Amino acid sequence: MTQSFFDFSRLELEETCKDSGIPKMHAQNLFRAAYKDSNPAPWSREGLPKKYAKYCAEKFVGPNLRVVSEHLSQYDHSVKFVIELSDLRQIEMVLMPESKRVTLCVSSQVGCAQACVFCHTGRMGLGRNLDASEIIGQVWLANKWISEHPQWLVETRLPPQQRITNIVFMGMGEPLDNVPAVAKSISIMTDPYGLNLAIRRISVSTAGHLDGLEELVKIHPAVRLAISVHSAIDAERSKIMPINRRWPLAQLIQKLRSLPTQQENGLLIQYTLISGVNDSLLHADKLVEILDGLNVKINIIPLNPVGPSRMKAPETQQLENFRDQIYKSGIRVMVRYSKGQDIAAACGQLVIQSN
Ligand code: SF4
Repeated sequence: MTQSFFDFSRLELEETCKDSGIPKMHAQNLFRAAYKDSNPAPWSREGLPKKYAKYCAEKFVGPNLRVVSEHLSQYDHSVKFVIELSDLRQIEMVLMPESKRVTLCVSSQVGCAQACVFCHTGRMGLGRNLDASEIIGQVWLANKWISEHPQWLVETRLPPQQRITNIVFMGMGEPLDNVPAVAKSISIMTDPYGLNLAIRRISVSTAGHLDGLEELVKIHPAVRLAISVHSAIDAERSKIMPINRRWPLAQLIQKLRSLPTQQENGLLIQYTLISGVNDSLLHADKLVEILDGLNVKINIIPLNPVGPSRMKAPETQQLENFRDQIYKSGIRVMVRYSKGQDIAAACGQLVIQSN
């Protein structure tokens, strides 16, 4: 039976090749060709003895996902891609250029089970988990797209050889509901023979899934974590983020305090500001109170409109008051306006209607 080449970490590939008599050096070269040269069928490259190429061609298939549409933002050059998986389900990913770096926001699930009320993806429910090949495949597709669109690099003032420099697991899904695939994809992203990204350039966002957090940091203790808090008052947080009923704030904060690497590197706290829901000065004070002593930076994200919801972004003055109240406490804080708002690619807006 064939299996996606992109489902193998390098060590697994070396092991599989070894079992079939293929020397480690060839396994490493195959891995390098797949990721560094964006080769969809690395066994077809020159230099691999024919018998090994035949074995690989019978055992492996290339990327098991494809771009079905792309939407370019007129404002900030970000690009939202709709991706079709082999079972015809669809996900989305977003490419975001910034000065000197290109960030890819990847999905980890089709839909999401967490049902945060302000999030479009949450309204889809969970379709299924992505496997590692479908996560790393998004990075592979995006790098290939960049190499085929030199004009995009010119327009974004990035150099011609520029490829993805940063990954954020902030697309569709709760990544920590799918740790095995997420962790393996991170191993491939950081492998020196693969994409060779520094672990500090990879951020995993979570709504506060503590079992998953425990599991992930055992495998990748230095991965960056972005914690979605959105309210520092338990009863209110439970209303907008049902996950809080399972892992309330006290447990979440206690867990964060116990992560030495994260304390060293700093945690990102995400706070979607919703008018009349979590944007008062009292909310700001409560947030400062629960984060006391943690090494954090807070990103305030004004709510992005999602469909017919009555929830609204706060007025500018309210937003500034909230930010300043936190700033006075000494905690690093900034307002982050999501990229790709004109193409429905901003935080909380990713959704596939047909799933
Ligand atoms: S905000 Fe994240 S965890 Fe919550 S429903 Fe949306 S995708 Fe899921």
